[in-house]
Amino acid sequence: MSWVLKNVTLYGEGDPVDVALHEGVIAEIGHGLSADEELDATGCVLLPGLVDLHTHLREPGREDAETVDTGTQAAAVGGFTAVHAMANTEPVADTAGVVEQVWRLGQEHGHCDVFPVGAVTVGLAGKEMAELGTMADSAARVRIFSDDGKCVSDASLMRRALEYVKAFDGVIAQHAQEPRLTDGAQMNEGVNSSMLGLAGWPAVAEEAIIARDCLLTAHVGGRLHVCHISTAGSVELIRWAKGKGWDVTAEVTPHHLLLTDDCARTYDPTFKVNPPLRTQADVDALREALADGTIDAVATDHAPHALEDKETEWGAAAMGMTGLETALAVVVQTMVTTGRLTWRQVAQRMSETPARIGRLEGHGRPLAVGEPANVTLVDPGAAWVVDPAAMASRSRNTPFAGHHLPARVKATFLRGTLTAREGKPV
Ligand SMILES: [Zn+2]
Repeated sequence: MSWVLKNVTLYGEGDPVDVALHEGVIAEIGHGLSADEELDATGCVLLPGLVDLHTHLREPGREDAETVDTGTQAAAVGGFTAVHAMANTEPVADTAGVVEQVWRLGQEHGHCDVFPVGAVTVGLAGKEMAELGTMADSAARVRIFSDDGKCVSDASLMRRALEYVKAFDGVIAQHAQEPRLTDGAQMNEGVNSSMLGLAGWPAVAEEAIIARDCLLTAHVGGRLHVCHISTAGSVELIRWAKGKGWDVTAEVTPHHLLLTDDCARTYDPTFKVNPPLRTQADVDALREALADGTIDAVATDHAPHALEDKETEWGAAAMGMTGLETALAVVVQTMVTTGRLTWRQVAQRMSETPARIGRLEGHGRPLAVGEPANVTLVDPGAAWVVDPAAMASRSRNTPFAGHHLPARVKATFLRGTLTAREGKPV
């Protein structure tokens, strides 16, 4: 089936045009175009399909929280055409067999492309390097390796991993958290943690690992990606590493761009997340760094959890928040309506750059004739209120429940096939 999007502006720039999608590609851009199906896109912005560097799909092992099917439906609703699925499943994605299983599930369900992340160490135990080469050579073609959820804290192992993946242009995505500094930590270390009597998680626990890993990356000439940076100090370190010309990239989550540790005062475990929500000064530094390109990409860290793991007291609750369905709207609220980013820059930070970091083909491509029809149609004027019960994710742990957000994904297309429309998966 062919589609034509009528009166849409590409990247929110220039005069409206019609865009025809046919046989999986952008077939024509012009005026007065027609197709089997027509979608009125007056006032809407067309972006390349969003690409997430950091999604927890939970399958295999925690299908009560999310599956590849429900998670990729949530991705499609949020405007994503590709996600990287983190390795902390049960079993852990530390072999070719498990990454191929996740990759095949993605192919079967087809709501978006799923690119499995391989674990750096066997069982995420931080002791022994996993078979990175066989995962890279598998059908899943893994390029990003991460023990996310845990830090590769052994400097020697980290050095060897950075060195090893160079052979196939891989990247190590580090969850930067010095475990000895965060034993029992519950929230950001600061005024609020003292007041609430919760064990603090100091910024230095993140920053010390980032500094070390940037130096290791320079030493071996490797490629490092830093997951979900959350502090102003981390921003300074990334800026320093880039200034040196080292191959270091970084991501920030939408929740770290909007929320602060004041949220913990509610004792609502929805706001318990790893890394923790920080201070307003950190939020301001993250926004500035995403605007000036120090932070390369937005990644959701979509972390669905079953009710019983979240609806409990703060100390016992699991860490993490859902994010796929709200990511773009939160970025619009914090970065576009405030004048920090143009739509074209949103396309870079949420599609083009994540695709480049993951070495993906067919995603993050220009909106041009002949390119794959992986596109996201955004209505920048469609304000909405977040309702957890209306979400496609199997889990309900969004920190934005009841928030009024600007802009909504109107439709998502994967190789020309409609995957979501008006907040619902197709
Ligand atoms: Zn993480």
